[in-house]
Amino acid sequence: MQPPAPTFATNLAAVRERIARAALRAGRRPEEVTLVAISKTFPATAIRSAWGVGVRDFGENRVQEWESKRPEVADLHATWHLVGHLQSNKARRAATLFNCVDSLDSMDLARRLDGALAEQGGATAGNKLRVLLEARLAPEESKTGADPDVLESLARAVLSLPNLELAGLMCIPPFSEDPELARPYFRRLRELRDRLRSALAESAEARELAGHRGILLPVLSMGMSHDFEVAIEEGATEVRIGTALFGLRTGSHGP
Ligand SMILES: *Cc1c(COP(=O)(O)O)cnc(C)c1O
Repeated sequence: MQPPAPTFATNLAAVRERIARAALRAGRRPEEVTLVAISKTFPATAIRSAWGVGVRDFGENRVQEWESKRPEVADLHATWHLVGHLQSNKARRAATLFNCVDSLDSMDLARRLDGALAEQGGATAGNKLRVLLEARLAPEESKTGADPDVLESLARAVLSLPNLELAGLMCIPPFSEDPELARPYFRRLRELRDRLRSALAESAEARELAGHRGILLPVLSMGMSHDFEVAIEEGATEVRIGTALFGLRTGSHGP
């Protein structure tokens, strides 16, 4: 008899186990790390199967692709993340298609997202669009993300927009086979978050936000299939994992 092909459930168990070990190594609790399953290029049926075995956070990197899959999984209660670069002409659609935009990198986008929600009657307190600021930590290698020196002004601007909830930072380090080479980027993101947290702590908006959540900027979205354990050791609270769960993607599709 042939051994069965690895199924999503097997992959999920292995990834969860690795997440737990990495967290424990770093003296953290495994529950502090949210697994965001990156379902880009995979059909809605794959999302449904993943949901069936307990995944509740999903990430897509293209607005249009998600728009076409979404009707088939509209009955599933899950948190839907946009993790890819958002073009300004798609901001209006993204604002209602996703619960979280994890790749916000400009004032213009922030205003467009907020404006789109305002036009639809505005978000209620518990129902704002969660955003993460994507930091561009290797300017020579990546085109997306905000430069670290504008993060503070961007954060202040986002805090003043009533329909967005600023939750933390995100980064995509340059790809390398060796996950250790990503470690300095992950560490840098955590340091940037800590600095931003102190810089914003005095603002009234930040105090109000921290009041809801208990802590300001709790989220660090960092780590993908090949480097998530290192990211967790450096403080990741969300890991974005595609290949290690769903298998290899065919064709070219983002990072
Ligand atoms: C595709 C993608 C991922 C997942 O990548 P894997 O290497 O397949 O785990 C994570 N984050 C972003 C922004 C992506 O586009």
